[in-house]
Amino acid sequence: MPYFIASPCIDVMDKSCIEECPVDCIYEGNRKLYINPGECIDCGACEPVCPEGAIYVDWRAPAEAKDFVADNDRFFADPLPGRDGPLGSPGGSRLSGRIGTDTPLAATWQGADRQSLAAAGDE
Ligand code: SF4
Ligand code: SF4
Repeated sequence: MPYFIASPCIDVMDKSCIEECPVDCIYEGNRKLYINPGECIDCGACEPVCPEGAIYVDWRAPAEAKDFVADNDRFFADPLPGRDGPLGSPGGSRLSGRIGTDTPLAATWQGADRQSLAAAGDE
């Protein structure tokens, strides 16, 4: 799963990345967006358009963002709060619409954590 979205997207969600994705594999939670690892074709088009620098390819991500590699996967593989089963591969975010819920990591993410990640990215 090379590309994923980390904490700087939380509570921003301007959706610039969705406009760039050729396979519509970026899904909308409640506080952030998530890349479907089974649908992403690893083209990299989304990474440079994110104004928050929230999108990474896994081998280039700072250590502070690494938890979000598995967390993007969990958004699709695990049952989300309020849902009976996993989301899986819905075939595109335009088909699924807004999912409107988050993984526990994103749902409980605090602003101070976000600031420390942004500072780490500046180093
Ligand atoms: S790397 Fe390409 S296919 Fe994957 S989420 Fe970004 S724009 Fe979409
Ligand atoms: S462009 Fe960046 S901040 Fe905006 S929704 Fe996509 S990942 Fe989030």
